[in-house]
Amino acid sequence: MVLTETVPAAAPPAHEGILRRQSLRESAARTYARSLPIVPVRARGLTIEGADGRRYLDCLSGAGTLALGHNHPVVLEAIRTVLDSGAPLHVLDLATPVKDAFTTELFATLPGELAEKGRIQFCGPAGTDAVEAAFKLVRTATGRDGLMAFSGAYHGMTAQALAASGGAQDTSVVRLPYPYDYRCPFQTGGERGAELAARWAQSLLDDPKSGVSRPAGMILEPVQGEGGVIPAPDGWLRRMREITAARRIPLIVDEVQTGVGRTGAFWAVDHSGIVPDVIVLSKAIGGSLPLAVIVYREELDAWQPGAHAGTFRGNQLAMAAGAATLAYVRTNGLDRRAAELGARMLDRLTSLAAAHDCIGDVRGRGLMLGIELVDRTADADATGARPADPQLAAAVQHACLDRGLIVELGGRESAVVRLLPPLTITDEQADAILDRLADAFTAAVRTTPGPTGSSPTTMRGTSP
Ligand code: PMP
Repeated sequence: MVLTETVPAAAPPAHEGILRRQSLRESAARTYARSLPIVPVRARGLTIEGADGRRYLDCLSGAGTLALGHNHPVVLEAIRTVLDSGAPLHVLDLATPVKDAFTTELFATLPGELAEKGRIQFCGPAGTDAVEAAFKLVRTATGRDGLMAFSGAYHGMTAQALAASGGAQDTSVVRLPYPYDYRCPFQTGGERGAELAARWAQSLLDDPKSGVSRPAGMILEPVQGEGGVIPAPDGWLRRMREITAARRIPLIVDEVQTGVGRTGAFWAVDHSGIVPDVIVLSKAIGGSLPLAVIVYREELDAWQPGAHAGTFRGNQLAMAAGAATLAYVRTNGLDRRAAELGARMLDRLTSLAAAHDCIGDVRGRGLMLGIELVDRTADADATGARPADPQLAAAVQHACLDRGLIVELGGRESAVVRLLPPLTITDEQADAILDRLADAFTAAVRTTPGPTGSSPTTMRGTSP
């Protein structure tokens, strides 16, 4: 059942005071807090309640962390069990029954050889720590230094993870084109565009005068999340696997955001059937608490003791919450549920796109969905797409919040409205999300002038 929204006449002073103090005391680098000025005090499943008494449907889910939504009973129970047992909460990287159970549950879900013979390294608590560890691992194992990564990628905020992300200007990382169907640089899109992107990667590696030497590893996301919800075609992923395997380049797949059922398979690589050399995991594997690991083929385990250390690698509460989450997703088939419900939601978003000519593209996989907003008054560029409209995207996000719906923005210019609901939502909750979103679109397009300032963005078939 969808919880109804209560909208008090005026926000209580506590709410406003907290937000005011936050803006005075926290750094200028704060992010979500700017576009989502809410003060969560209680949460359950899809719903967050703010200090202002309002209720919101949370389609941000801790940036894709909350596979089971907020405070799922099995997660709370797992945490309580550890607390009540008297087990130590901090153990560095020592063995514990809680860690043993987490590792067993995780390995039970992993693809192919990673499940059978993989090695796991518990890293510092964030996704970026695990990315950093993956790079260090492949450098040690291969004795090579360079990395290959993709345009539009996001791998985190520490130095090397940032260098491999699309926004960086780092020359130590060779950047390859990601198959972005809507804005295909080869002007063809579809499978052909993806194949041309793969050939570009291959030719850089094989041409002795390409200026690119064989890297220590290649890192990719099976669906780019922060980059604007761009699913890579399965065929392209298989090509990347073939290209890297044939040249003995370790393939690192970053499943920080796509893992644990999110895309409609337990791991996003399961759609294509590829087995990476290194898989990077965080977010949902900690069941809402910080946890990050890499799992890799044992042949790569050239590390010396202490080669990758860190104080916070033994968070027992996160391991218990994570094991409970993994088991719940697996036993309840929430990956299949994400596939079915995601496909239905994508259908409805496609109808929304038919009604609004400011929607350039809708796409996604499972419950990782995106709507790319474009300037309807501008001409299409060489790729056939129109320029992004970040101003309208911000207006949609704002209108959603007014209607009690939390959505995130992503993409090259923050012009992609992103939905990452918990995998546990009901059909009615999915409808409520899409109803509020459609209503927010209508309101935002009426009130937002186009980026050119020449005319307001309008609904298809209606007069301005
Ligand atoms: N990789 C991917 C694919 C991500 O989406 C993110 C976070 N959005 C990260 C890495 C970094 O994770 P963290 O923010 O926990 O460092």
